[in-house]
Amino acid sequence: MSAAAGSDGASNGAATLLALRELGERVGRAGAPMLAGLDETAAARKALAIVAQSGALHWTVPRAWGGADSSGLAAADDVSCRALCALRERIAYHSAMLDVMLVMQGLGSYSVARAGSETLRARVLPRVASGELVAAFGLTEPEAGSDLGQISTRAERHLGRWRVRGTKTFISNAGVADFYSVLARTSGAPGDGGRDSLTMFFVPADAAGLSTARFEVTSPHPIGDVVFEDVEVADECVLGAVGAGLDVALATLGRFRTTVAAAANGFARRALDEALAHTKRRRQFGKPLASFQGVAFDLAEMDVRLRAAQLLVEEAAGAVDRGERAIAEVARAKLFSTESASWICDRAVQLCGGLGVKRGSAVEHLWRDVRALRIYEGTSEIQKLILSRALLG
Ligand SMILES: Cc1cc2nc3c(=O)[nH]c(=O)nc-3n(C[C@H](O)[C@H](O)[C@H](O)COP(=O)(O)OP(=O)(O)OC[C@H]3O[C@@H](n4cnc5c(N)ncnc54)[C@H](O)[C@@H]3O)c2cc1C
Repeated sequence: MSAAAGSDGASNGAATLLALRELGERVGRAGAPMLAGLDETAAARKALAIVAQSGALHWTVPRAWGGADSSGLAAADDVSCRALCALRERIAYHSAMLDVMLVMQGLGSYSVARAGSETLRARVLPRVASGELVAAFGLTEPEAGSDLGQISTRAERHLGRWRVRGTKTFISNAGVADFYSVLARTSGAPGDGGRDSLTMFFVPADAAGLSTARFEVTSPHPIGDVVFEDVEVADECVLGAVGAGLDVALATLGRFRTTVAAAANGFARRALDEALAHTKRRRQFGKPLASFQGVAFDLAEMDVRLRAAQLLVEEAAGAVDRGERAIAEVARAKLFSTESASWICDRAVQLCGGLGVKRGSAVEHLWRDVRALRIYEGTSEIQKLILSRALLG
């Protein structure tokens, strides 16, 4: 995949990003209240319908296969990281569920866009962009989290097809998805690093032998285990070369990780706004909380950390869209934004006092919503590992 368009494209790109921020704001503001009171599965499906109807899902697949016109931002056969960041930052401000249902379409289908056959791309990707097919991404296993070289789900040849056996866990959209992009072992043994021994597969959710079991995490999020008991798929379901699955997985994370940082910034911006409003309104000791220097300094610190995080996201997403490897930029953005956002949401809880922990208050929700972002798509420690390796050569 090549870099995005040049100077003419740059001004188109800026106008598009502005329009996407406005779209994200509209979708988030109007969509969030529609999810109130729904159970997790119903909320997930409703959220998907809302983002699909807005057209935002078209930004989760390349324009070559039914995606939006990303000229000036990304190559025709790629997804724009800046576009997704613009959408996620605005949507996450209003709703974690809308945000996750948007991005999972991209995360779950990018392996098809990147490495699927032309037939599979044409069959699957336009339907992901319209929301007709729900996507999921299956890497994590009970014994393989940060270390994907530990993957033990196996795919073996059987009567001219591939037979998949194993268990994935913490899979977003488990039980909701229509297909899973699954990283499985086609040679070697767990612990071998996985460089040439893992392969990415497209597995339809209705394949015989596939089952799911949902569980709950701290904030509403469709997630669970996906079990493969001799699930058979055809050769056309192999995404990329046999043995090159880790590259496909890492390319996917390389493109989407910065968007996690953008979502974190959306949560943080909301938390700061809530804290500002509360501390200006709430009076104690005869004056507004915000007039106490200790409180005002907290607000200033929250603001500067948020702005720094936003600038790191801009830097990383721009580099990703230009086709650069951007290893350090992406790691910095993910690490700093998610850690800062957690801190900002926590300060907002503190500044709201008891209301900050009252079930259903905005900051209480944000505090729970933001936590998982320091863990998924590479933990903070793994970002430090990546960054320090880049620094040390
Ligand atoms: C809400 C949510 C959604 C998710 N969605 C998906 C999904 O859709 N698809 C998917 O495949 N996975 C998904 N995951 C899984 C997620 O990617 C993993 O949880 C993550 O990669 C960490 O793996 P682990 O949980 O096994 O932790 P572990 O790898 O066991 O790590 C535990 C702790 O040890 C630290 N650690 C590990 N190795 C090192 C090291 N070398 N140096 C220092 N510290 C280290 C980690 O940073 C962490 O703090 C999701 C997780 C959550 C919480």
